[in-house]
Amino acid sequence: MAKPVKVKAYRRLVQHPYRLPPNSRLYHLSPIGAGTPEIECLTGYIGRLAQEHLITPYQLLLKEVAPLLKGYQAIAHKAQFSLFHRPINGTGRTATAFVEVIQELTKQDDLYYLTLLPWSAVLTSHSLIRAYRAWCPYCYEEQRLSNESCYDLLLWVLDLIDVCPKHEKPLTKNCPHCGSHHLHIGARSRPGYCSKCLGFLGEKVRRKDANILGGLNHEMEWQLWKSKAVGELLATSSQCLSLTRSNVAKSLDYCVRTYSWGSISTFNTQFPMGHQKFRSWLKGDTLPILESILGMCFKLGISPLSFMKGSLDEERTSTDIRPALMLEDNRSKSSTLSPPKLTHDEVDIELHKALTTFPPPSIKDFMEKSGWGRGRLKKWFPELYFKIKARHYSLIEPVSAEKTLQLALTENPPPSLNLLARRIGCKNPGTLYDHFPNLTKAIVNRYKKHRYKQVNWKHVRAGLCKALRENPPPSLREVTRRLKLSEPPYSRFSDLCKALSNRYISYVKSHAEERRFFLRQGIHKAVASLTSKGLRPSRERIKRLLGININPAEFTEAMKELK
Ligand SMILES: [Zn+2]
Ligand SMILES: [Zn+2]
Repeated sequence: MAKPVKVKAYRRLVQHPYRLPPNSRLYHLSPIGAGTPEIECLTGYIGRLAQEHLITPYQLLLKEVAPLLKGYQAIAHKAQFSLFHRPINGTGRTATAFVEVIQELTKQDDLYYLTLLPWSAVLTSHSLIRAYRAWCPYCYEEQRLSNESCYDLLLWVLDLIDVCPKHEKPLTKNCPHCGSHHLHIGARSRPGYCSKCLGFLGEKVRRKDANILGGLNHEMEWQLWKSKAVGELLATSSQCLSLTRSNVAKSLDYCVRTYSWGSISTFNTQFPMGHQKFRSWLKGDTLPILESILGMCFKLGISPLSFMKGSLDEERTSTDIRPALMLEDNRSKSSTLSPPKLTHDEVDIELHKALTTFPPPSIKDFMEKSGWGRGRLKKWFPELYFKIKARHYSLIEPVSAEKTLQLALTENPPPSLNLLARRIGCKNPGTLYDHFPNLTKAIVNRYKKHRYKQVNWKHVRAGLCKALRENPPPSLREVTRRLKLSEPPYSRFSDLCKALSNRYISYVKSHAEERRFFLRQGIHKAVASLTSKGLRPSRERIKRLLGININPAEFTEAMKELK
């Protein structure tokens, strides 16, 4: 009998068909400089793509891109390039539309970062993209020598960039051969070459002007800093996908709190940008332009990236001494600005401490200690402010305060309410009025009567008679104040008081009439002068012309007379 043969069984091999990725309609060209400050721009990429296919950007856009673009039929006409060459690299719908179509055609999925779209939430399109193409000739030359094709940097597209951060040279905006300027993408555009005369735009760095910047002046320092900072921002485009408008508002709020103790006015003296505008940025209603943001970051020494991300407070170090620096600048401008003694964080700590100390400090005490004003304290620490205030006033124990006031009614000579308030430990007599209206009234009347008895009436009479002869006549209130009386002495010298007040009233009336007369004359002259110049005599114009304030009633009256 034959031995059974051992058969080894293998699992069945299932063959999956290999799926090739779909072919791209156009060449799968990789963008240059992704993730670096020297990242390429989308218009430059389109130029290179056309070059790879040996066609012009016009042919590429017309034949391949335009049919897929919805609502951009204008690019079918050569002359219309000027309508969309700017926003292709920007933050809006045009950029989105072009990115989608060119990604579809090339199957490259990271062309989004060749535009400013990743920053659309935190950048306003105002003054963002420059009107015409700009380039660094030395960068072009280096690109040519390194045997890679020339390309346009996204950095050059930004209107606020005037200097190449690598070569520290100003960007060029006109062709050195024919002097023409170029659209970001034109019918015959090609990175590195003039679209009119087709000349090469690169240039060798010459030894002679290698150190053209020489001693860096402040303006150049700022220009270079700006270029480098924006380059760093662009390099991180792919990591900044969750930026929101509120990030910017949060950072601005942080800057105001940290660098000018919460005072928008102080901050505005450093960065003059208009109160109204600044408030709308703080609310997140509008966005500052990129240059304003960078200006703040430059001056305050903070990172633009952290500013955009709204993460400044996470990165602040305890050794940050910028507030002191800023104030020095301020003090030189205005000697009236006295710097707060404590910073925002220190005030926070001290306010918490004040809640547990005894006797409870008043807000006024705290203001002196911290150097912060009442308004600022209330604005930044509303809860603590009211707690401290309430705690301080709770010191006035109602029972003992009432007793003191009642005893004061029998005291001789009668004490004033101010004195009693001090005895009770309450700084503001108004608080006593609120708590014990009847008692305080009685005390005040008693004190008044006492004072009345002590008045030297001969002296008062002489004062009143003298005032009657004065010119211009003083008001009765003014005379009462001068004689250090709490109220006009009608009870003793009613005739003198009435005469004084009548004299004053008639003076005011006649004076007002005189004023109205001259005002009407002035208005009539101004109207004549304005109409002779062909201008409408509006109230505003006349006010400006005469340099005085005119109320609407006076104006209408004067105009009626003219008619
Ligand atoms: Zn350069
Ligand atoms: Zn040229």
